[in-house]
Amino acid sequence: MTFQDLNLNTPLYNALHDLGFTTPTPIQAEAFNVVSSGTDIIGIAQTGTGKTFAYMLPILKNLKFSTQETPRILILVPTRELVVQVVEEIEKLTKYINTRVLGVYGGTNINTQKQAIADGVDILVATPGRLYDLALTRVLQLKHIQKLVIDEVDVMLDLGFRHQLINIFDLLPEKRQNIMFSATMTDDVDDLINDFFKAPERVSIAVSGTPLENITQTHYNVPNFYTKANLLKHLLSDVDTFNKVLVFVSNKKMADRLFENLDSRFHDELCVIHSNKTQNYRLRSIEQFRNGDNRILVATDVMARGLDIDNISHVINFDTPNYPENYMHRIGRTGRAERKGDAILFSTENELEHVESIEGLMQMQITVLELPETVEISTELIEEERPQIKERNNPAKRDENIGAAFHEKAEKNQKENLGGSYKFKIAAKYKKPKTRGDKNYNRRNKKK
Ligand code: AMP
Repeated sequence: MTFQDLNLNTPLYNALHDLGFTTPTPIQAEAFNVVSSGTDIIGIAQTGTGKTFAYMLPILKNLKFSTQETPRILILVPTRELVVQVVEEIEKLTKYINTRVLGVYGGTNINTQKQAIADGVDILVATPGRLYDLALTRVLQLKHIQKLVIDEVDVMLDLGFRHQLINIFDLLPEKRQNIMFSATMTDDVDDLINDFFKAPERVSIAVSGTPLENITQTHYNVPNFYTKANLLKHLLSDVDTFNKVLVFVSNKKMADRLFENLDSRFHDELCVIHSNKTQNYRLRSIEQFRNGDNRILVATDVMARGLDIDNISHVINFDTPNYPENYMHRIGRTGRAERKGDAILFSTENELEHVESIEGLMQMQITVLELPETVEISTELIEEERPQIKERNNPAKRDENIGAAFHEKAEKNQKENLGGSYKFKIAAKYKKPKTRGDKNYNRRNKKK
């Protein structure tokens, strides 16, 4: 299939031609007719799949020239970085079309944005909070919106935007097309659809369990957080090889903790993004990483998903994702556009079951590497790694999982951690290969 098959108009072909794009990506091919037909749609696709053009091509093909001032297309995205990115993508496509595109987001002067809106807009790209504020000032009229796009619905809900979205729905004309894109179907996304949309057509490209051939995958068994940090520092000290490194962690707390740990040694080369950082801070971090000023970016899954950054030399999974799909998304950030990429996975004993799920999805085993001898094995544990102590008389904690089974497990975990780190120490000392046999041995012990 080529773009010719989509019957686009000449200005769009020419813009695509200038970009050097000839073939629609799978999500573009799948979504085109559905979006064109005007029915509601939920597309399941990640960043990097060409999802922005998947909704923009059919929208632009059908958008007539107008001098009307109020916007006709509204695109909501969760972060300021994405506003900037989506506006850039639309500008590339509308190179030969007279379309007015505007991006608005919080943390910047609202009056400048009001003025830009008053000048007339066809396509408005916005974060929900700022959009709502602008709509309340009445400068922004939403009554002519024909199509609502919500991009990264999963991230949007993860950041707590459900309420804001609902407020915005109230301001939009009932008769409109709803176009949603999400990297994953989560319960939150399902709820939103069930509560507010009438059975949108679902278009998805299955998460492939087949990793790109140009990504080399390796795996280290590491006993705990601090040893992971030591290993990471060891790897990062090879500046030439590890020249653009995206380090994934599962949550904000871990991101901050790792950032602090790395900061003294890699201060000038390091940046971090997660949803508690201000938008200015995040935007600066991305830019510094993108343009090469900073070599290392620590990021959470949700924050990194929306980013389009090329030439990443290494993706380091500082922790092992619970969902194998997230692993596929993470490693897909490297090895893009035919370049070679390296994906490295760190996992503790407790994370080995997730490693198994990942290997199950890919139907292959990730090569296990020995911890380098110079990496110091720490015995210090972070709060989450320490055995949990039951607080009998703390009424504030009464509702937490403090049943008998929980207590028993905590004691067992304590034993396992000790055994685990001992095993790693011995293995590192004697360079004994870690086989699946070892893992199963531990697994059996755990079940006892
Ligand atoms: P997205 O998933 O929308 O973030 O797009 C990822 C990247 O792929 C962007 O840099 C797009 O410009 C690019 N892209 C979009 N469509 C195509 C295509 N059909 N062929 C090649 N690259 C594309």
